Amino acid sequence: MSSTIKKIGVFTSGGDSPGMNAAIRAVVRTCAYLKVECVGIYRGYEGMMESDFKVMDARSVNNIINKGGTILKSARCLPFRTKEGRQMAYDNLVKAGIDAFVVIGGDGSFTGAMTFNEEFNFPVIGIPGTIDNDIFGTTYTLGFDTALNTAVECIDKIRDTASSHNRLFFVEVMGRDVGHIALNAGVGAGAEEILIPEENLGLERLVESLRRSRLSGKSSSIVVVAEGDKTGKNVFELKEYVEEHLPDYDVRVSVLGHMQRGGSPSCFDRVLASRMGVRAVEALLEGKTNLMVGVQDNKITLTPISKAIKGHTKIDKELIRVSDIMST
Ligand code: ADP
Repeated sequence: MSSTIKKIGVFTSGGDSPGMNAAIRAVVRTCAYLKVECVGIYRGYEGMMESDFKVMDARSVNNIINKGGTILKSARCLPFRTKEGRQMAYDNLVKAGIDAFVVIGGDGSFTGAMTFNEEFNFPVIGIPGTIDNDIFGTTYTLGFDTALNTAVECIDKIRDTASSHNRLFFVEVMGRDVGHIALNAGVGAGAEEILIPEENLGLERLVESLRRSRLSGKSSSIVVVAEGDKTGKNVFELKEYVEEHLPDYDVRVSVLGHMQRGGSPSCFDRVLASRMGVRAVEALLEGKTNLMVGVQDNKITLTPISKAIKGHTKIDKELIRVSDIMST
């Protein structure tokens, strides 16, 4: 493959997610395989503005495919939102001889990369790394599958204690704007009810459903709630509401929080990261830019970053139907 690109930078940016290390490894190893130099940029755009660079070869990424977090660290960088900040980052990349970069992050990181590309005509490719699965142009983002498995494992444990004491648990999972984690983890863990931002069926329906559930002889109930659910109440207020309307219930709350972002990536995320990393480097060497690598119909695809950040992901209506049937 002959290309003008001889040195590729790689970094992780914004919210971290499991599988980011596997993606770094894939980018570095693909560069080594295709005889292109690779530079790790620490702390995302912050490190780019401070020339925090380290040359990486195939051996720099030994034994990281199974590690959570990101060896290159991640950061949120306000100055990169300014033209002066991006100019400084550009000057540093040019000084280091870096001709293109692969950004592993979410829509904020992609917006930064797209602006950078448009201002400096600098080749960029994105790999979607976020547990929320909220990026258009890919059925799965890196870290989503691992986060689901973590959430399901936690809810299984909560179920044990819930059924020992005939309790109702509200379990809050991540998802401020989208309910993919709540819906999938809820179905996977056999939740009685799932509250997601995309649908607000109302509090009365929730109370009615829990009442029916109790009458049908269930010994415990789990309600999975996405952070951004639209009932207008957070999990603690939901607890109070249900206690008020269903005094028979012994209600508890569990907020899973950041543990959903950590941990060793699942096999699915490791394989996905490897495929995406290979495609990202190949795309740059083919002269492509301003695109995000995704997976659709189990094929690796490229979508313009502008579409990836503006498009909406849709909640799986079929899965909502399945969840309703399963909670009978
Ligand atoms: P994520 O990539 O997980 O969505 P953020 O939204 O925090 O995370 O974005 C990560 C970083 O990307 C920001 O700290 C900032 O440096 C950069 N960024 C985000 N939005 C923009 C923007 N509109 N212009 C330039 N840079 C941006």
